[in-house]
Amino acid sequence: MRATVDKTGFSTRAIHHGYDPQSHGGALVPPVYQTATYAFESVEYGAACFAGEQAGHFYSRVSNPTLALLEQRMASLEGGEAGLALASGMGAITSTLWTLLRPGDELIVGDTLYGCTFAFLHHGIGEFGVKVKHVDLNDPAALEAAITSNTRMIYFETPANPNMHLVDIAAVVGVARQHELLVVIDNTYCTPYLQRPLELGADLVVHSATKYLSGHGDITAGLVVGRKALIDRIRLEGLKDMTGAVLSPHDASLLMRGMKTLALRMERHCSNALRVAQFLERHPQVELIHYPGLPSFAQFGLAQRQMRLPGGMIAFELKGGIQAGRRFMNALQLFSRAVSLGDAESLAQHPASMTHSSYTPEERAQHGISEGVVRLSVGLEDVDDLLADLGQALGSRVHVE
Ligand SMILES: *Cc1c(COP(=O)(O)O)cnc(C)c1O
Repeated sequence: MRATVDKTGFSTRAIHHGYDPQSHGGALVPPVYQTATYAFESVEYGAACFAGEQAGHFYSRVSNPTLALLEQRMASLEGGEAGLALASGMGAITSTLWTLLRPGDELIVGDTLYGCTFAFLHHGIGEFGVKVKHVDLNDPAALEAAITSNTRMIYFETPANPNMHLVDIAAVVGVARQHELLVVIDNTYCTPYLQRPLELGADLVVHSATKYLSGHGDITAGLVVGRKALIDRIRLEGLKDMTGAVLSPHDASLLMRGMKTLALRMERHCSNALRVAQFLERHPQVELIHYPGLPSFAQFGLAQRQMRLPGGMIAFELKGGIQAGRRFMNALQLFSRAVSLGDAESLAQHPASMTHSSYTPEERAQHGISEGVVRLSVGLEDVDDLLADLGQALGSRVHVE
């Protein structure tokens, strides 16, 4: 493990950071430490590990060498001091919020959030004495007005799942600093290749590593990255004692395999998505489209400032609303009808009946999630094949009418 700051490039770190084959019998790929527990050289050593006086692994719910490498590598890519790996994105989010919030605290969140995060806030931690306030975070006056002496944290997604609304990270951090609030950002849609909130002053980023980071749709995983003092607390309180949402060493190894090609994959996801977005924008059946790479996108300027590339996710609506959207989705042949995102395979889903069905219809209306919106995760296939599939599925709608 390198003690000094690794100044090599993003992909070099994604492939090499923190690992020296010569310390592992020459094994090019890091070994999987498939162990639940660790033998102590003495009772005193074990006791010191439990007391936190001695750095060392003592039980795999708390730490494991394979996960430690993943955590260190991810911290390097996000530009943070430390990382923590968990069993899923929800494991990362719940472990973080259970650790850092107490009854009586107030939490300010963005208008639109991933469905299970919304459910956790309103039906989980919100029922245990934490007050949750949704605020339009791009309105500085509204944000200032929502802050009280009990406010502890601002939490948001940018782009938000599923409607692609962006939040100006630096602007929110500026307000948070004046009030000593923690800023926690779900960076799942971007990955550190496209956006690095910690470099803009955020305290923590959380991820569903199930998505782009692993990239192959074969594991669920989550990550948190930020200041070491916070990460240590989330490990020893949220993960160890509250959620127990530990990642398996084998899945950590698969996640590191995926991360080796993150930059390559993100470039292709973005170039394919831009072509798909341009195609949909011109199509006569398309009523509305939200993609940060289109000059017509409402926050195009912010996207250019804050994101290296516009990402692989698209939200759009057809003329004829939800009925037209259903017919279109059922006609797709190459795109799979599936939730999740960031896989090699292109995916299409309907947030109102799938990922965001944890909102009531009234809540969806209030939080900017239209009933007719279709969400695409543009994969790594040849883009002409994707355009042909979208074209035939849109055309089939014309026949039906
Ligand atoms: C999928 C997702 C999550 C939840 O992650 P899981 O790995 O499914 O638990 C959280 N936030 C966003 C933005 C997501 O897309």
